[in-house]
Amino acid sequence: MSVAIALDGPAGAGKSSIAKRAAKALDFIYVDTGALYRTIGLAATRKGVEPIPSIEVEKLLSEITVDLTFNEKGEQIVLLDGEDVSGLIRTPEASMMASKISAVPSVRAYLLDLQRNMAKSHNVIMDGRDIGTVVLPDAKVKIFLTASPEARAQRRYKELCEKGMDVKYEDILNDVITRDYNDSHRETAPLKPAEGCVMVDTTELDFEQSVEKIISVIKENI
Ligand code: C5P
Repeated sequence: MSVAIALDGPAGAGKSSIAKRAAKALDFIYVDTGALYRTIGLAATRKGVEPIPSIEVEKLLSEITVDLTFNEKGEQIVLLDGEDVSGLIRTPEASMMASKISAVPSVRAYLLDLQRNMAKSHNVIMDGRDIGTVVLPDAKVKIFLTASPEARAQRRYKELCEKGMDVKYEDILNDVITRDYNDSHRETAPLKPAEGCVMVDTTELDFEQSVEKIISVIKENI
């Protein structure tokens, strides 16, 4: 029987980098569900489909395939109609489109089985917004990871600058605040702490301290 760890929280709380390290240390597979929403967002952008009206999105979903796989280093690869789009989905525009399209109920329903099947076949640390509340409500450990909007924007700004992207801190902070609002106010599967979750605030923690904290929470609760 596989073991699932649900890791939810707002954009930029450090979920993915922390979860990747914790998964490696614990020999679990790390699943980044945000990449799936980003991929559908990319498909919509490519085909000129707006998130509303949702009828157009439903047609789009019937025309595409989204798959998750892992490379030889154990890193997640996301495929859109067989094309590796893992790099293309990491832009601020793709983030905003993902946030908008993720509010469409048919998009969430479309991705549900894919996520649940991953957890059935592997020990996973799955990161997202609704993993503990909707996707894996019976997860062995549920963690809600957060940090102040300013700390999260600062981290994302640094990350994008290091990738050579020309971005402004104020724009990133506005994106973080807008995405927080969208994610926590949508009707379907809004971002909120799951019942029985452990809250971890990383505002005052550096990366190594955050990894240590998450690993110890998992070990204590597993
Ligand atoms: O985690 P990441 O920032 O890559 O997610 C991109 C967007 O996808 C989020 O802003 C959120 O709107 C959406 N998302 C979601 N549910 C998840 C994961 C991501 O709604 N489980």
